[in-house]
Amino acid sequence: KEGPVAKWHKSVCRYCGTGCGVMLGLDKNEKLVRVRGDQEAHNKGVICIKGSLLDELMEKKEARLTTPKIRKNGKLVEASWEEAMSLVAEKFKSSIEENGPNSVAYYGSGQLYIEESYTANKLFKGGIGTNNVDGNPRLCMASAAVGYTQTFGKDEPAGCFDDIDHAETFFVIGSNAYECHPPVWERVMRRKAANPKVKIIVVDPRRTKTAQHADYYLPVVPGTDMLLLNAMAHVIINDRLYSEEYVNKYISFNDGKAEVSFEEYKAFLEDYEPEKVAAELGISAQIIREVAYYFATSKATMSLWTMGLNQRVQGVFLNNNMNSLHLLTGQINKKGATPMSMTGQSNACGGVRDTGSLSHLLPNGRLVAKAEHRAEVEKLWGIPAGKIQEKPGYNALSLFQAMNDEKVKATLVMCTNPAQSLPNVAHYLPGMEKTFMCVVDAFETETSKYADVLLPAALYIEKEGTYGQTERRYQLIQKLREPYGDSRSDLDILVDLAERLGYGDFIKSKTSKEVWDEYREFSSHSKYNFMGMTRERLAKERGLQWPCPTEDHPGTARRYIPGDPFVPEGKEVYFYGKPNGKATVFMRPYLRGNEKTDANMPTYLTTGRVVSQWHTGTMTREVAELNSQSGPGRFVMHPQDAAHYQVKEGDVIIVNSSRGEMKGTVSISENETPGVVFAAFYDPEFMINDVVSDDHDPISFQPDYKVTAINISKS
Ligand code: SF4
Repeated sequence: KEGPVAKWHKSVCRYCGTGCGVMLGLDKNEKLVRVRGDQEAHNKGVICIKGSLLDELMEKKEARLTTPKIRKNGKLVEASWEEAMSLVAEKFKSSIEENGPNSVAYYGSGQLYIEESYTANKLFKGGIGTNNVDGNPRLCMASAAVGYTQTFGKDEPAGCFDDIDHAETFFVIGSNAYECHPPVWERVMRRKAANPKVKIIVVDPRRTKTAQHADYYLPVVPGTDMLLLNAMAHVIINDRLYSEEYVNKYISFNDGKAEVSFEEYKAFLEDYEPEKVAAELGISAQIIREVAYYFATSKATMSLWTMGLNQRVQGVFLNNNMNSLHLLTGQINKKGATPMSMTGQSNACGGVRDTGSLSHLLPNGRLVAKAEHRAEVEKLWGIPAGKIQEKPGYNALSLFQAMNDEKVKATLVMCTNPAQSLPNVAHYLPGMEKTFMCVVDAFETETSKYADVLLPAALYIEKEGTYGQTERRYQLIQKLREPYGDSRSDLDILVDLAERLGYGDFIKSKTSKEVWDEYREFSSHSKYNFMGMTRERLAKERGLQWPCPTEDHPGTARRYIPGDPFVPEGKEVYFYGKPNGKATVFMRPYLRGNEKTDANMPTYLTTGRVVSQWHTGTMTREVAELNSQSGPGRFVMHPQDAAHYQVKEGDVIIVNSSRGEMKGTVSISENETPGVVFAAFYDPEFMINDVVSDDHDPISFQPDYKVTAINISKS
């Protein structure tokens, strides 16, 4: 590494939802030459390999987009900002004039800064007047957001990462935290090392590196874990392991339509007696019972999950059930006891969920479909009553389908790569061809191949903004150097577009700080209130957790208990998102998805991430050390499957699913489960999403990337 460091700066890693604090060392020429974990941040100095190589990423200048480009005669050619932006504005204007506001759309990202997503959402919903605002967080955490909202009346977790230091049982389901949230996992392991009573239960069809550290490892059959959660609830109720006091005081039961009694809930669970579900689930009744006992009776149980539950056709129900297990047992509202959905992306929570930048949402937990919520936002934004449409816009999948169907004619895609990340991706590519698409990114991507206008974006510390990670913690990323080449921040591009479309007065906050102050004031009209997080304060602090209503408020680590500014005096627990102050335990039946193995499709495919690559690899493939660690994309299978299909390490296989076919190389590992093949999605030369099903949860519209039935043949 070069040096020496002229000055260290506090910052935040730009990759995942752990939101690690990092210290960035810049030399006297503003070159980032050193990165280390920030000892004072919540991650206590621990970072993973991706974060430790942020300096390499920022120096990959040869791969950066530096000038705007416009498609002419089928080719992207360099253009001025004026030429490119006038073309984008003209295409959006003409589409709106000829086909109405719903003929245009915005597709954003959980990696844009809060100020950028807030501005895009405001411009499209409040200015242009379309709810066609969605983005890649639909693919990663929509089910968790709906799950929390249905159970507690408010999105975002009740607890925090600090709970790890107090938990006695960890229930880890659908999360390979060892690879995908490494500092979180290291904290779990430290907790276990310090306290021999700590038990780790891991539920995952794959024997991941996380599962290898479990006291109990439950290799469930893909797509069946609803059976496990309902069976655990059955044991908890029937063996009287639930907290009677907590149930009576703080819970109501619901069948999805109306309130039901505890007895009705108990009767619903009769079908889920462990002995009845064990065979389909692939886990013995005895193990289900033991795990339920640990969950219910430990001093404090913390659950951790991520895409393994969210990216599922029953994603919302799975999230409901996780919350329910904590409510029934009273394993919540105390240190170390909490249900925690870990977000994949760096700013999916703060940037997209909290700003309401999805097609059904409005900022700070409001819903497009609720008239009073629309009215509140219209008032706060100073726009005429009725300006915000009452129908949700297109979600990620229906948006790209609408592009296929030529209903959406102009789309702005910022900081994301749907031509690689969408499931059943080949189905959606024709729409990207047909639509006028403006793509904004720092690098060329699979999606930029379909751009009509390609705009170079400033990257990370070349601009200022705020990230909000998994545990409601907002952290400031300061601008430490000028954008590379002619690139501009996404916020500058949005402000420019707003002005060209005639919304310059409406998008009145033009700089990151101005947007922050506007949004901070906006938040004070909600239970997300972070009015106390001034820019000056964020520049000093290692992040603050909302609610944080005043400048002297320390932030709220745990919600719904005293210390949370919205809990009325004298209440020990209060779920203020619900009219009766009680959280809801839902009856959620197990419904098998379409993707089920049979004689024609005898094997499951499940997809995910690896530690050294970030999502579609746009940034991490530029870093040699990360690339060499991951190697190229490949299918990973158990030796039994390799024997069954008569393939060996390095062979090329053809994989078929109901959606398509692709070829790829095989790798063989004892750590995979027989009958389940794993593939990561970072490599565009290994387009796994050509075969991944686009079946999705009917409530959250989040696709199921985890369960696709496949057939394999030798190439
Ligand atoms: Fe960055 Fe996530 Fe790694 Fe932390 S765990 S260093 S936030 S990629």
